[in-house]
Amino acid sequence: MNEDFLLMIPGPIPVHPRVFRAMSMKIMPHRGDEFNKLFMEQSERMKKIFKTKNDVFIIAGSGTAAMDAAIANIVQPGDKVLCITSGKFGERFRDIVKAYKGAVIELKYDWGMPIKAEDVKKALEKDPAIKAVTMVHNETSTGVRNPVADIGKIVKGTKALLVVDTISSLGGDNIEVDNWGVDLCASGSQKCIGLPPGMSFISVSQKAWDVIEKTDGTCYYLNLKKYKNNKYKAPYTQPVSMAYGLKEALDIIDECGFENWIKKHEKMAKATREAAKSIGLSLFPHDEKTCSNTVTSIKVPEGIDGQELVKVMREKHGIIIAGGQDHLKGKIIRIGHMGSVTEKEIIVTMACLQMSLKDLGYNTELPSILTPIWKI
Ligand SMILES: *Cc1c(COP(=O)(O)O)cnc(C)c1O
Repeated sequence: MNEDFLLMIPGPIPVHPRVFRAMSMKIMPHRGDEFNKLFMEQSERMKKIFKTKNDVFIIAGSGTAAMDAAIANIVQPGDKVLCITSGKFGERFRDIVKAYKGAVIELKYDWGMPIKAEDVKKALEKDPAIKAVTMVHNETSTGVRNPVADIGKIVKGTKALLVVDTISSLGGDNIEVDNWGVDLCASGSQKCIGLPPGMSFISVSQKAWDVIEKTDGTCYYLNLKKYKNNKYKAPYTQPVSMAYGLKEALDIIDECGFENWIKKHEKMAKATREAAKSIGLSLFPHDEKTCSNTVTSIKVPEGIDGQELVKVMREKHGIIIAGGQDHLKGKIIRIGHMGSVTEKEIIVTMACLQMSLKDLGYNTELPSILTPIWKI
């Protein structure tokens, strides 16, 4: 396989070599004291990233495993769940609720449109039997950050649980599980935390435990009660190498300082947006104020095929960006700027984006430094 490519999709991300070196350490016995100390220390450290005092569990599985765990442990057939959807991953939560035979009440927005807390308030007032509200913090399919804090304020005053997917933002954006009143917060390893895919995280509030204790959930591997009651907070074999990697990834974040790490994401996002706008492109999110810190989605200009653009980026420049999903296929491109990505990668990605657009007939004037390169 040709390894000479730059991965700029919204996860998985290019993993820092330090993380890979840590992961190559010899496997320790997963029930030994040494490993369990390391493992439990990392879940403690994850609490800082979630900004919570709640329990945080590490689950072997991709991010969806944590979303699945959140629903499986609180939803029984017929339970009403308000699912807020404004993109692919909001819809995933809705589909998980359906899979556990919950009664979905969908609060649906067009992809890219902002979620309004007022609508959530109305829906909860209309139906006080609603047991949970699901939403995505950072909707990766559209590049929109949703107002979890505002919705948390509303849900807090009801008996419903707030269930949030922060898979593509945890570590790369400010998330305040406790202050915002998030009861179940699901996340994953392969985005802003900076690990390969395969590990997921979930935080569980006391309000959520009270529901979980009373719910006869349809789950075995993802039964959170087993995680809580296990001496090592992990009932089955932990992903040992990933735990080594997690320690290293959290060390990297700590060395930078967590708040600086988030600021760096903010800067990369702004640089990407401004670079796109500077060559006449438009951002996909309806309102720039709602733009994500970790993924930028850009409209493909009229007359250009977005799938072709992704292909030119990959084949000519070795840069892998993402296209649109579902009905946005060909219409938008998405650039991830997560984890250890710096302006070096943003510069090369945006420069190659401009050259690729020019290849496809987009009317744009290259800066003098790119003109001779483009002509090669
Ligand atoms: C990437 C992503 C997921 C999917 O996670 P997997 O790790 O593929 O299971 C879910 N939600 C959001 C918002 C994501 O960005």
